[in-house]
Amino acid sequence: MKKLLKLTALMSLFIALSFVPTNNKTIIVLDAGHGGKDLGAQTDGFAEKDYTLAIAKQIVRQNQNKNIEFVLTRDGDQFVSLNERTEKINAVKPDLVISIHLNNAQNKDANGIEFYVSNENSQYDKSMKYAEMLSENFGNSIFNNRGVKDNRFHILRNSDCPAIIANIGFVSNRKDRDYLKSEGSKTEIANKILSFIDSLNH
Ligand SMILES: [Zn+2]
Repeated sequence: MKKLLKLTALMSLFIALSFVPTNNKTIIVLDAGHGGKDLGAQTDGFAEKDYTLAIAKQIVRQNQNKNIEFVLTRDGDQFVSLNERTEKINAVKPDLVISIHLNNAQNKDANGIEFYVSNENSQYDKSMKYAEMLSENFGNSIFNNRGVKDNRFHILRNSDCPAIIANIGFVSNRKDRDYLKSEGSKTEIANKILSFIDSLNH
């Protein structure tokens, strides 16, 4: 009997081990906000949809960590509905989704970067942890940092994985907009996001 137990234990160990994934890739979905007919926030011919896509592509281009795999919810200027986005995200089953947006406010003085998570997300604790890590990476180095807030956006509530929205500056604020339009801003922002993603897989 003892022998049988031992054998059973050994076999279940073998079965458990055979299910350990052999690749330890970290899969990140980059969700470039808006697209196509949905321009997002806009001022002076500057459209949010173009910038969010440019940032997502810049992140992929600048990545040097082979253990990180990126999936984009859109890779061109096409309209993708929120449902289509979360369907894709949940099919991919990533380790994290980062939805990239810009902010917009009536008050033209409002400025800075802020991050959203939702307590209706099934992996709220992880989302919060990641959002705080990403926020810390930015600090106040580029933008005034408005920190991590709770929100009920579709992407956050309906992704079955940790999910963050990064609102990278205000289109409605002159200073933020000038920075976003500047030559090096995409590289700089992509670097901040990448160093955070890097810390998830070494
Ligand atoms: Zn947006």
